[in-house]
Amino acid sequence: MFKRETFLSLLTLLVVAALIALSLPVAAGSGFLSTATPPPTPTNNGGNAQWTILSSSFESNFPKGFTFRLEATSTGGKIVSAAVLWRHSPVSSRTRRLAQIDESGTKMVAVWEKAPSDAVPQWVSVEYWWLLQDEAGNIYETPRQYAEYADNTRKWNRMESDDIIVFWQEGVPDEIGPLIIAAMERQRPLYEKSWARPLGYKPRAIIYADFATWAEWSPGRGTVGGGLVVVGQTSQSWGATAQVYDPLIQPVEEVANDTVLHEIAHLYQYANGGTSGLRWFIEGNATFFELTSGPRIEQRVRRWAREGRLPSLQGEGPGGREAYDIGYMFWVWLTETYGIEAHRRVWELIWSGRTQRAALEEVSNMSFVEMETAFRAWLGAINPEAPTPLPTLPLFLPPTPTYEPTPRRAP
Ligand SMILES: [Zn+2]
Repeated sequence: MFKRETFLSLLTLLVVAALIALSLPVAAGSGFLSTATPPPTPTNNGGNAQWTILSSSFESNFPKGFTFRLEATSTGGKIVSAAVLWRHSPVSSRTRRLAQIDESGTKMVAVWEKAPSDAVPQWVSVEYWWLLQDEAGNIYETPRQYAEYADNTRKWNRMESDDIIVFWQEGVPDEIGPLIIAAMERQRPLYEKSWARPLGYKPRAIIYADFATWAEWSPGRGTVGGGLVVVGQTSQSWGATAQVYDPLIQPVEEVANDTVLHEIAHLYQYANGGTSGLRWFIEGNATFFELTSGPRIEQRVRRWAREGRLPSLQGEGPGGREAYDIGYMFWVWLTETYGIEAHRRVWELIWSGRTQRAALEEVSNMSFVEMETAFRAWLGAINPEAPTPLPTLPLFLPPTPTYEPTPRRAP
């Protein structure tokens, strides 16, 4: 789950800033959003033997883990070695467990039990397959199978479209399912135009009705320290975003129209070059995919510009909430000025190894200072001149980012 960690730490910081985190997901195939093609079976699979699968099953024991069972035979003799492999999305690393084999050499059981450092939320996808070896040394890889880490201990609802699979716990308003599906469908053309590389899987949104349920799958994970609490997380290795619904923080419409779309955009960022780097660039970009937050943000940022207190994007640029808002407006400016193709092009350049700033300079054909001046003038800033960046001091230690624990939800 290493890939998750980058994003996790990013999210964790957000949450420290704001008490909350959020989102994710997706697919390729017929059209942009379908499911991924399974990888080909290895050549010479099975060796010289005939292999027969008599039964294969997956059992969720949520919150403890899950169990795989297989009954199979080989004409090459008893099965002497068996391992099951699985992953939660095509971009996550595989996990492997050796199975116990019974005396007959045909029945196998493999168990995964969660540990504090190795846990996943309910309802993630489980793609799994077995590797078997018989007495004669033949090796066989079974076809891929798909399951879900179902939470059978409480009531959940499930809805699926071409774009997303939504799970919501009993207690979350039932409109959440149709609302998320409608929002994803409405935004599908924008995702398609904006990203060169699709996700390669169908993302999942898992919406919790209460904090206890969210915290159950990984005790301790929900607490950052200082009384701050993480109430959401998005992971490319799960291919999912998990969020606690709290009507006092965010109405259900906003979760569907803004939060989930924002988090799905982070998944696209992963697939198109990554989520590290400048916070305003990454968070503003994810915010660009929200459906309804734009007008409020625009009003705020244009007011800062008019009042002469718009922070500069030079250096690290703004942090906290301002990174989201000003970064969002920057992406609006970029795509209004150069077309939505500019979005796609910038991320293609990042994919090919450019820094975020170099990609922007190449697409706009301006230096970053010139670009920011144009952006600030467009916003109506009374002081549009972007400050000339200070030369980098070689021995200067990067500052540790700190955030105020404002009691509101981070997008
Ligand atoms: Zn974000």
